Amino acid sequence: MRTPIPPRRNRFYDTARFGQPEIRVFHKAGRGKKAPRYLLKCGCCDQKLEIYYAEDGLEIGGVNGTLDDWREILLPLLEIVPPKRSRRRCSPCRQP
Ligand SMILES: [Zn+2]
Repeated sequence: MRTPIPPRRNRFYDTARFGQPEIRVFHKAGRGKKAPRYLLKCGCCDQKLEIYYAEDGLEIGGVNGTLDDWREILLPLLEIVPPKRSRRRCSPCRQP
């Protein structure tokens, strides 16, 4: 299973690190057929979001998708450029 998100202080309206209230993150282990999940709570109110995760996918706020599907959607929003497999080259010779 993937590495869990590191523990956080989860204080209400904690602006110390980001200048805005930090998302509060709670983890619950999976049990039986139930996948492990993260509960994300807004730093400033009671709004929340559940993320269930497994080796092959994520369910975020009740929406199911494969990891590749979520990567295509979330990485650009996080300004992370996904690696382009077709452009990966052998580093010593720079050949495809
Ligand atoms: Zn809020």
